[in-house]
Amino acid sequence: MTANLYQPIKGEIVDVIEESPTIKSFVIVPDGAFKFDTGQFVELTLPGEGEAPFTPSSSPAVSEQMEITIMKAGRVTAQFHACQKGQPVAIRGPYGKGYPIEDFLGKLLEIVDAPHGHDGVDPMVRTYDQWLIFTPTSIFPHFSLSSHVGEGGLDVC
Ligand SMILES: Cc1cc2nc3c(=O)[nH]c(=O)nc-3n(C[C@H](O)[C@H](O)[C@H](O)COP(=O)(O)OP(=O)(O)OC[C@H]3O[C@@H](n4cnc5c(N)ncnc54)[C@H](O)[C@@H]3O)c2cc1C
Repeated sequence: MTANLYQPIKGEIVDVIEESPTIKSFVIVPDGAFKFDTGQFVELTLPGEGEAPFTPSSSPAVSEQMEITIMKAGRVTAQFHACQKGQPVAIRGPYGKGYPIEDFLGKLLEIVDAPHGHDGVDPMVRTYDQWLIFTPTSIFPHFSLSSHVGEGGLDVC
């Protein structure tokens, strides 16, 4: 967590990944470690254009860089979509309550997400990815991910 939640810290877009015609992921390196919990969001500023809330799509275990996946929805998000590598940004936060992920250990978990992507739950998925690597699977037997309401779950474990 940054010292002051309301004090933006500078950062730079170091990579832009085109996920679809309307969705891009931006890899951002903040000026110093930026910690957040699974489920929290940040305010991302494009200097001179505006800011908007986004949920990081990268693992909360990594604080040196952060990935934010943005769907082009209106004015500010369209400006983000026009950004290239090297673009300066600012980040505030993190805000909101994280998910109580420890409570889910050992339980069958089904994540239901919005149809346009996993932006809101990606940090949780990546947190469990970490645990799956570092935790004996006997205490965490099942994890299923359902990307659309009504569709069958995708087993990632
Ligand atoms: C906690 C939180 C986390 C979020 N996380 C993510 C995330 O990880 N990724 C992500 O992509 N988004 C996320 N969002 C949504 C994102 O913040 C919004 O898409 C963004 O703020 C839109 O800003 P904008 O300036 O691009 O859109 P705006 O210009 O504000 O437009 C927003 C919507 O209003 C419509 N609109 C605009 N002007 C008009 C008008 N005159 N008449 C009618 N309709 C109009 C637009 O078509 C659009 O649908 C999150 C939102 C919240 C609250």
